[in-house]
Amino acid sequence: MSTIIEPFRIKSVEPIFFTTKEQRAVVLEKAFYNPFLIRADDVMIDLLTDSGTNAMSSAQWAGIMIGDESYAGSNSFFHFEKAVQDITGMPIIIPTHQGRASEKILFSIIGGKGKYIVSNTLFDTTRANIEFSGAEGIDLLCPEGKIPSVPAPFKGNMDVEALEKFIIEKGAVNIPLCMVTVTNNSGGGQPVSMQNIRDVKQICGRYGITLFIDACRFAENCYFIKLREKEFANTPIPAIVRELFSYADGCTMSAKKDAIANIGGFIALRDEDLALKCRNLLIITEGFPTYGGLAGRDLEAISIGLYEVMDEHYLQYRIRSIEYLTEKLIAEGVPVMQPAGGHAVYIDAKVFLPHIPSHQYPGQALVGALYREGGIRSVEIGSLMFGKYDDEGQLIPAMMELVRLAIPRRVYTQSHIDYVAEIIIKVYREREKIKGLKITYESPTLRHFTAKLEEIS
Ligand SMILES: *Cc1c(COP(=O)(O)O)cnc(C)c1O
Repeated sequence: MSTIIEPFRIKSVEPIFFTTKEQRAVVLEKAFYNPFLIRADDVMIDLLTDSGTNAMSSAQWAGIMIGDESYAGSNSFFHFEKAVQDITGMPIIIPTHQGRASEKILFSIIGGKGKYIVSNTLFDTTRANIEFSGAEGIDLLCPEGKIPSVPAPFKGNMDVEALEKFIIEKGAVNIPLCMVTVTNNSGGGQPVSMQNIRDVKQICGRYGITLFIDACRFAENCYFIKLREKEFANTPIPAIVRELFSYADGCTMSAKKDAIANIGGFIALRDEDLALKCRNLLIITEGFPTYGGLAGRDLEAISIGLYEVMDEHYLQYRIRSIEYLTEKLIAEGVPVMQPAGGHAVYIDAKVFLPHIPSHQYPGQALVGALYREGGIRSVEIGSLMFGKYDDEGQLIPAMMELVRLAIPRRVYTQSHIDYVAEIIIKVYREREKIKGLKITYESPTLRHFTAKLEEIS
């Protein structure tokens, strides 16, 4: 097979500022070994997140120019509404400024004390919004999704047996909603199969439970369905997308992901009553229902990006670029989550740095080492992010110590990715030189964003 090329040419470029290893060592120490405290200009390859970091197309930039900034009834809203209706098949479309705003509105209405929201895995903002409402979020991921080193085609699937058991145990009246996250971001960007969605729908239908999709990476998920679920091998992506959404009563979306935009989100749904309640909250939090916290130009960019993301040449390049980096690392023995997910490569820092115990934050130590060696910014998904303390103040470590390298859409070329692989492999060969870290400052909630750390000598 010939090389899969980037399916775009580059019209506008941004400079990368080069730094030396010595300079980066100083930057890292001054940023207290926390990538969130490093200035973007001091980063050479930024793999902190794929959220809002997308490169827009010339068509999207043209859309920016025709954005209609009317407060009410903007033409851009009608473009946006038509695009989302067409793609999802859902009749009611409510714009928001980003994914978590959709979640806040939805769970303010259907959440509340004594309620359970079930999911394959809830993303952290989704879980936070559920818990803020007083409800409890329950992850029911399939068993194979919990083991990073074991490949399986649909490691994002919901455990349908566990779902039915949970419903019988807690009572359907206490479960207002089931949320399936595609792809499963917190579980390594792993996809959910169409058959799994059908099975989940059947159970939800039997017990009268509303089914929503967290649709942030809907196109990446549908491409995996096409590749891995025989029935869909010859189905065009938009048709797979349509079928996926056909099983759901609604969805929440962050346009910072698979709408290839830099900001935005929406709620799409079928139920008029629920929509009315959502719009009432929208007006006091986000804005009037025809702009929902966005500029008209953003609505244009999103409606164009939502079609571009379903292009099969784009998706082939997208999924292949993640797989390409994963394969290069596996070839050199670097421990990574398998198979490659849709938007990021995950290194298993526990295996990478066996000499650093969990309470010295091996993931964060590796994040620091990758930055110092090559100016690459990544993020720890381990005990710094999810660790808790017991009554004696001892760290209760997270289940896994991962480092995520999220690939922004259409931003980096193959040589950038080759460079990333070289740096990781170099760091791997010299891994015993990496030192553990200790926390010198932390906030009580979401500590990873602001924590300060230092090396243990
Ligand atoms: C990013 C994300 C969200 C939240 O969206 P924001 O636009 O960051 O608020 C929700 N769910 C998933 C799966 C995500 O990846």
